[in-house]
Amino acid sequence: MTDAGPAITISRVVKYYGDVLAVNDVSLMVDEGEFVTLLGPSGCGKSTLLRMVAGFIEPNSGDILLHGKSVVGVPPYRRNTSMVFQDYALFPHRTVAQNLAFGLRMRKMPRPDISARVTAMLELLGLPGMGERRITEISGGQQQRVALGRALVVEPAVLLLDEPLGALDFKLRKQMQSELKRIQRQVGITFIYVTHDQEEALTMSDRVAVMNAGQIEQCDTPERVYRYPRSSFVADFVGEANLMTCRVVATQGEIVRVRNQSGEEFLARFNGDRQIAVGEEVRLVVRPENIRIDSQDGLHGTVEDVVFSGAMAKVSIALADGSHLSVAVPAGNALPAKSARVALSWDADNAVIVA
Ligand code: ADP
Ligand code: MG
Repeated sequence: MTDAGPAITISRVVKYYGDVLAVNDVSLMVDEGEFVTLLGPSGCGKSTLLRMVAGFIEPNSGDILLHGKSVVGVPPYRRNTSMVFQDYALFPHRTVAQNLAFGLRMRKMPRPDISARVTAMLELLGLPGMGERRITEISGGQQQRVALGRALVVEPAVLLLDEPLGALDFKLRKQMQSELKRIQRQVGITFIYVTHDQEEALTMSDRVAVMNAGQIEQCDTPERVYRYPRSSFVADFVGEANLMTCRVVATQGEIVRVRNQSGEEFLARFNGDRQIAVGEEVRLVVRPENIRIDSQDGLHGTVEDVVFSGAMAKVSIALADGSHLSVAVPAGNALPAKSARVALSWDADNAVIVA
């Protein structure tokens, strides 16, 4: 731990593979002890960015600093970072303890110290007494823990995790998400976590950096990314979003009156840092759970379909201007009938204008 500013500073980093621009001018700062997730679809550049922090790939331009010192050109084993891979990359025929000890042996730590650290790590991972089992003799979830332990045991300043739960089934994944979070809090190491799973990103992270085509479109707390997406890509990738195109008819600070294509007006919110002009065409997002169907006033539409999905029913509605909205109604609430004429409304705060 040092007081040299943020744990990680990524500054205007660019990476090409031949003609493919994998990471396009990305900047990001991560605080000491923070849990930041890179979230985005396959191929958006998450692994490339993570591997540049680890030192397995060098950027074409830009800088990467760990605790205030540039590490560009510094090999991975001298960066004080550790990486957990999706496929775990464990030694299958060695024991759990031997796998955990590997990095410490490489560092030539004395045997008794290695043994003490490995025992403490087994405890932390919830695998006490399992040190003598071979990797082939433990479950997938236990292997995942060993992979995590092997990266943690060397006490890196920064832990980099590339889709570490990708191979686990749904239930185990959920369980490991909270385990990982617990361990991260307990050891207080800075985490950069990579996933394409938006729910995983929202539940685990202090901040989420949403990536698209080699760029970070928004980096914010999970709540802000969900509530106040800055682009239609972010809105659509994180949760479910209704996107509408409207024209601005009046503005008052962050609150904007807009008109849709069939001439109906409502209030929306704009969090951007530029001025928004009357007459401008804007795109806005309303989440399905923020739409009320019970009101008299509002946008008029016709119920097209009602589908149950457990805790929620999904109601799809055709609006007069030809667009469609999806509305989530909690189980137990009254549902409209198919083909019914309804009015829809929402709070201005929940209709968010995106860039
Ligand atoms: P993600 O981890 O988000 O799925 P990657 O960082 O693996 O994305 O890849 C970003 C882009 O770079 C993709 O277009 C991918 O095809 C390309 N890419 C990744 N690794 C290589 C490589 N070794 N050689 C050439 N292109 C690559
Ligand atoms: Mg990847």
